Parts: sequence; C-alpha cells; structure tokens
Amino acid sequence: MPLKGERTMTPCAAGTCDQDQEWPCADAREQAVLMASGVAFIAAGACAVLRNRPRWLPVWLAGLFAWATIPKYFICARCENYGKPCDFFYGGKYAARLFKKQDKPFNAVGYFAEGSSLAVFQFIPPIAARKDPKALILYLLAAGLFQGLLIKFCCIDCVRFAQDPWKAQYCPTYKMVDRMGLASPET
Ligand code: SF4
Repeated sequence: MPLKGERTMTPCAAGTCDQDQEWPCADAREQAVLMASGVAFIAAGACAVLRNRPRWLPVWLAGLFAWATIPKYFICARCENYGKPCDFFYGGKYAARLFKKQDKPFNAVGYFAEGSSLAVFQFIPPIAARKDPKALILYLLAAGLFQGLLIKFCCIDCVRFAQDPWKAQYCPTYKMVDRMGLASPET
C-alpha cells in the first residue's frame, strides 16, 4: 500500500482518479497554488511590458495565446495523459476540449511550437524591463516561484511515472530534474 500522499503508477482513466494515489490526477489544492502563482507570473509580465514597452503588449499576448493553444495539439493530444486531469493545469482535459486525440507520434514540430511560443511569452518582459530594476526583479521572482512550483507539483511525478519516451528525450525540465537527482524514473 502506498503511504498517504504518495502516488502509484496506477494509470487513472478520465474522470475516475483517486487524487491521493494515482498519477497524473491533479491535487486541487496544489492546482490552486499553481494557478495563483501563474496569475502572479502573468501579471508581473504584463506590468513589465506595460511600464516599459506598451507597444509590445500585443506580441506578448499573442505569444501567451499561442502557448496556451498550439502545443495542446502537437503535444497534449499525443500525450498518454490526453483527456485526464493531469497536474499541469488539468492540461489533458483542457486539450481534449480543443482537439481530438492524435495518432501521430510526438515530433520536432511540437518541440518548436512549445519552445517558440514560450520564448516570446517568457522573454519579452525581461527584455522590455531590462532598464527597470523594480519591474525586472518582480518578474524574475514571479517566474522563479512559478517554475519552482511547476517542478514540485508536475515535473517530479512526470519523471517518476511518465511512460511516453519523448518526454525523457526532449523535455529540458525532465532532464534537469533527473540530472539534479530530484526524481528518477520508477519503471
Ligand atoms: S501531462 Fe503535460 S503534455 Fe501531457 S496532457 Fe498533461 S499538460 Fe499536456
């Protein structure tokens, strides 16, 4: 029997998760904390752009919108957790609302879609605020908090339990968590 709070490899079916024990079933309290930090991260980014380069805001928003949609087709619709309430903002269920499950394997297009949209969204604020220490520090603190919580709530269990081989092959955060010894594959 797993200890309380320790998850097992038992895969959950959509809508049948035991949130205490099954991966990738999201914990509602963790998701609330993650979402709050995500809102703070976005607010700090918007603040950095609006204070320094307000004309860049549409590009930054386009990056955010692209990141929230395009990779869902190229990554989430090809993921083992498609349709499930996974612990990255219930992304599998969210993706299932947008796209049908894809039979094609993950490929470099998914990597490019995620990387390019994320780069626009993440790097515009610090570039815009490079001469505004207050906004820059606020943004970096919010980004660090969000990334830290992401690793704690999502990436560690992903490294432990994920079966999709492309996650270990391509995901930089997966590699970092593994190399830092924060988690290692359990199968
Ligand atoms: S685990 Fe990640 S890639 Fe898979 S469905 Fe959830 S958010 Fe998408």
